[in-house]
Amino acid sequence: MTTTASGSTDTGTAETGARRGFEEIDILWISEGMSCDGDTVSMTASGQPAIEDIVQGLIPGLPKVNLHNKVLSPTLGGESFLAPFRAAARGDLGPFILVIEGSVPNQNIIDGEGYWTSFGNDPETGEPLTLNWWIDRLAPRAWAVVAAGTCATFGGIHAMAGNPTGCMGLADYLGWDFRSQGALPIVNVPGCPIQPENFMETLTWLLYHAAGSAPPPPLDRNLRPQWLFGKTVHEGCDRAAYYEQADFAKDYNSPKCQVRVGCWGPVVNCNVPKRGWMSGVGGCPNVGGICIGCTMPGFPDAFMPFMDEPSGGSLSATLIKPYGAVMRRLRGITNYALNREPKWHHNGPELTSGYNPRWRP
Ligand code: SF4
Ligand code: SF4
Repeated sequence: MTTTASGSTDTGTAETGARRGFEEIDILWISEGMSCDGDTVSMTASGQPAIEDIVQGLIPGLPKVNLHNKVLSPTLGGESFLAPFRAAARGDLGPFILVIEGSVPNQNIIDGEGYWTSFGNDPETGEPLTLNWWIDRLAPRAWAVVAAGTCATFGGIHAMAGNPTGCMGLADYLGWDFRSQGALPIVNVPGCPIQPENFMETLTWLLYHAAGSAPPPPLDRNLRPQWLFGKTVHEGCDRAAYYEQADFAKDYNSPKCQVRVGCWGPVVNCNVPKRGWMSGVGGCPNVGGICIGCTMPGFPDAFMPFMDEPSGGSLSATLIKPYGAVMRRLRGITNYALNREPKWHHNGPELTSGYNPRWRP
C-alpha cells in the first residue's frame, strides 16, 4: 500500500528497480473543455500503441489501466460514468492521470452568473458543475495532468482574439509552474486534433514512468514532449526538396512546395509530415494541406488569415530563388546524363568497355 495522489491508499505498488511504481492507475479524461471532442476521436486511431492494447493490458510492463472517457466508456453514462470522477474529487480514488480536452473558460468574468461548460450536476443542488470546479478539485490530487489537443494546451480556436469566454489553456489556468502529485509539470500534447500516436506514445511514456521503469518524459519550454515537437514541419516535409530548388506551388493542385500559398511549415514545431496521420499515411503538407501551425501557442491568431503567404515566406522564397534556379538547372543536366547507359553496353563485334587483360594494380 502507498499514499496516493489524493492522499488515500491506492490499489498496490510494484518494486521496479530504484523506484516503486504503481500496479494500477485510473485515467480520468474530461472532454468538457471548449472543444469538439476531436482529440478523443483522433486518439482512437492510434495503432502504435492502440488504446485498446493499453486498456487490455497487452503491453508488457505497464500498470493496469482503468480508462474513463465518455466516448469509450462501457457504462451507459450518467452517474455510473461520473462515479470515479466524483470519488477522485472526494479523495477516494487514486492514483490517477487527469486528461483535459478543450480549453478552460474564465468563469470569473461572469461572476457566478451561469456557466460556460459543465460536467455532471451537483447532486444536492442539481446545478451544473463547471469544468473549472472539476479541475480545481482533481488537478491537485492527480498523479499526472495531461492536456490533450491545442485547445487544452494553449487555448486554440476558442481562445482567439475577440472570443467571449476568456478561455485559455490548462497551464494558463493552473499556472505554468504547476506540479502534480507525481512531481510532474503539466504534459502538453498539442495538435488540432492531436496526432493519434503522438498522444498515445506520450501516455505510454507516462504509464511506464508510473510503473517505475522510465524517467519522466522530457518536455520543451511549452511543456510539449521534446522528442515529438523538437523539429519543424519543414524539416520532415515530403516537399522540402522543392523548396530548396525554389520550385513553388501557385495553387493547391500542385505537388510542389506550398510556402507561397500559405504554408507555415518552416517555423512550426510538429512531426506530422514525418509521422503521417493514420498508419503513417497523410501528414498535412505531404498530402496537399498547408501547415497552419496548429501545434503552436500562437495558433490561430498568429497564423491568420490562413492561406495567405506567411510574412517571412515571401522573403525566404525570394532569397532562395537564384540559388534554387541554378541548382535546378545543374541537377537537370546531371540527371539527364545519369539517365543514359554507358556507351559500351552494345551487342557489336568489339568490346569497348576499356577492359585491359594486362592491367595489374
Ligand atoms: S510545403 Fe511547407 S513544410 Fe513543405 S517544404 Fe514547403 S514550406 Fe516546407
Ligand atoms: S503540420 Fe501544421 S497544420 Fe498539420 S498538424 Fe502539424 S502543425 Fe498542425
